[in-house]
Amino acid sequence: MKLINTRCHVCENINFNYLFSTRDYRFNLSNNKFDLYSCKNCNLIKSFPEFNDEEISHYYPKINYYKNSIEKYLKYSGKYNKKFDNYLKIIRKLKDNKNLKILDYGCGDMSLVKYFLNKNKNIFGFEVNDSISKIDGFQKYKEKIFFDFKNIHQSKLKFDIVILNHVFEHISDPNIFIKNIKNIMSEESFIILEIPNSNCLQIKIFKEYAIHLDQPRHRYLYNRDNITKFFLRNKFKKIHINDGFNKFFDYPLSIFKSFKNYIKYSNQNIFYKILISILLPIIFLVYSFKKNSHQSIGAIFSLNNYE
Ligand SMILES: [Zn+2]
Repeated sequence: MKLINTRCHVCENINFNYLFSTRDYRFNLSNNKFDLYSCKNCNLIKSFPEFNDEEISHYYPKINYYKNSIEKYLKYSGKYNKKFDNYLKIIRKLKDNKNLKILDYGCGDMSLVKYFLNKNKNIFGFEVNDSISKIDGFQKYKEKIFFDFKNIHQSKLKFDIVILNHVFEHISDPNIFIKNIKNIMSEESFIILEIPNSNCLQIKIFKEYAIHLDQPRHRYLYNRDNITKFFLRNKFKKIHINDGFNKFFDYPLSIFKSFKNYIKYSNQNIFYKILISILLPIIFLVYSFKKNSHQSIGAIFSLNNYE
């Protein structure tokens, strides 16, 4: 299998290697097969076939893509959210200014918008999925939410912080995205980004059964090097990179979900499956503590020469 007419948006290379095929093991919304290819030069992973926005919308669950059962309670319980609090701490460190304008690009169910408003932050949200207007209490936040990028432009708002919390991997044309986002960022501004990690141990061991491949919704999967390269190419500066801003509690059960899919669906030899099962506690420990084997990458990029 070959990818034709595809240019890597990170390194401009046109040669891609076929990696493996997978299915929607996260939501099981279809039985369709999706092929993953990796750029021969920078290892950016690309999902195929490519869908337009309308087509891909059918691959999102109707009710709520943003939360799932147990993780929902770990992440969103009560008034305290560790990850959002970590974002607040970072923002305070980056820019100590009460009037900062913050944009949560891809704000989903508005959890972050609500949290930051409670902390008296001037935050706005952008979301392509307008079904969030049916969420209870939406009217209260209506003024703060954009559904059309053009409206942000027309508002003349310039943001000091743009948060992309597991959003960038869904974007179909990152080059156009970066051009547009720069237009609405203030002179000394920052992007706080979180994405899945293509170097994750889950993908190395469980391959197509790794839950955060999240096909076909994740159009691209990045590693630390190629995501950095992409932002540097677009005149950003790397300030910080880590294994996610809430490493241990963001998706704590994902490795077990990947393991469950692997045991259930893989055609691997039973002895190999037993071996993996026995080794699972060790795999979990390595996954938890070894740098750059985790599911997520967190990064901060600045648009100026911030020191
Ligand atoms: Zn590339």
